[in-house]
Amino acid sequence: MHSNVRLDGPDVFLKRADGARLRSVDDVDYVDHLLGQGPALFGHAPEFLTSAVDQASRDALIFGGQGEREVYAAELVCSVLDWPDMVRFGLTGTEVVQAALRLARAVTGRTRVIRFEGHYHGWLDNVLVAERDGAWQAASSGQLESHLEDFRVLPWNDAELLGEVIEREGEQIAAVIMEPIMINSGVIEPAPGYLERVRRMCSRHGIVLIFDEVISGFRVGPGGAARRYGVTPDLAVYGKALGGGYPVSALVGREDLMSRIGIGDVNHAGTFNAWAPGMAAVIAALEHVRDDPPYPSIIAHGTKLMDGIREIGESFGEPLRVEGMPMAFHVSFGDAEVTDYRSLQELDLQRYASLASVLVEHGIWVARRGIWFVSEAHGPAELDDALTRFKTGFKDWLGR
Ligand code: PMP
Repeated sequence: MHSNVRLDGPDVFLKRADGARLRSVDDVDYVDHLLGQGPALFGHAPEFLTSAVDQASRDALIFGGQGEREVYAAELVCSVLDWPDMVRFGLTGTEVVQAALRLARAVTGRTRVIRFEGHYHGWLDNVLVAERDGAWQAASSGQLESHLEDFRVLPWNDAELLGEVIEREGEQIAAVIMEPIMINSGVIEPAPGYLERVRRMCSRHGIVLIFDEVISGFRVGPGGAARRYGVTPDLAVYGKALGGGYPVSALVGREDLMSRIGIGDVNHAGTFNAWAPGMAAVIAALEHVRDDPPYPSIIAHGTKLMDGIREIGESFGEPLRVEGMPMAFHVSFGDAEVTDYRSLQELDLQRYASLASVLVEHGIWVARRGIWFVSEAHGPAELDDALTRFKTGFKDWLGR
C-alpha cells in the first residue's frame, strides 16, 4: 500500500484499468467509481491521451531545459480556465499547495493562514491535520506540530465567523485556502453568497485567496468551481484531472503575484516540473475539454446513477442520501442538514463505509468515505452493471 488514503481499500490487487472498469489479478471486473481518486475524468487510458503521451515520450522524457510543449500547455490552462495570467507546473497537488502558500506569504509579508475543517491540502507537515479532542492537530506520528502554528482551522461555509477572525487578525493573515467545493469530506457546495463574501473580505484586507481545485478543477466543468460560482481567487492549484491520469499539477494566478516565482525572489523547484510527456497529457486533456467537453455525458450518467441509488435505498425502506453533483457525489445514511464538516459528522458515515466494503465485493469500486466519481467512459452498460450490483450488494449487506 503506497498511499494512506488507500488504507481503507480492500485486499485486492488490480492489473487493468480500461475505460470505466478495473480488472483484478483474479479476473474480477469492477465498475470504477473512484477513478484513481479523481484523475480519470475521461475514463482510464483513453486513446486520445495515451497516444499523445506515447508520441511525446518518444520525442523526449526530460530536457533539463524549457520544452516546446510547456508553453502551449500553459496557454491552454490559462485560456480554458479563463482568468489566470501565469502557470507553474508541478507533479502533485501536495507540492503546488506548498508553492501557493509560500508565494502568498512572500507577497503579503505575513505568515498566518486560514484553512477549513475537513478540507484536504496534501500530506505535508504544515497542512495535514486530524480532529482529536475537539482540536485540529498533527495527524501523523513524526509530524512537526510546530509547522501547524501559523495555521488556523475554521468551520467552512460560515462567513460571519471568518469575518470576525479577519477583522481581528487581518493584518497577520497571508492567505485563506479552501476547497471551493468541499469534496474531500462529503460533497458540499458553498452556501449562496459565501464565496463572494470571502472574496470581498480577502480583497479588503490584502489577503491572498487560494482555491484548492485539485479535485474540483476540470471535473465540475472546464472552469472548475471558480467559474461555476463566478468567484475568482488570487491563486489556485490544480492536479488530478488536469493530466487525465498522468501526474501533473499546476499553480496558477495573476501576473503580479505569479511573477514573483522563478525569475522573481520566490523559489519553487522540481526535477520533473513541466515533465515533457506530462505536458502532452495536459494539452490532450484540455483540448478535449475545450473542443469536445465530457460534461454533458458525465452529467447525464451521474444523474441517472444518483437517482438509481436513491430508488434502491427507498425500495428496501432504507433511505440513502445521495448528494452533490453528478460529476462527484456523496452517498451516506442519516438525517442531518449538512453544510460543513461538523454537520457531516452527524450522519452515519460508518454505516455507509460498511456498505461500501460489500459493494466492492459485488464489483463496484468505491471508497468507504462515500465519494463517487463519474467519467466520460461510463456508458449504459456500466450504469446497468453498477445499479444491478448495487441492488444485490445492498440486499446482501442488509441480510435480506
Ligand atoms: N488538495 C486537494 C483538494 C486534494 O483532494 C488532494 C488529493 N486528494 C490534494 C490537494 C493533494 O494532491 P496529491 O495527492 O496529488 O498530492
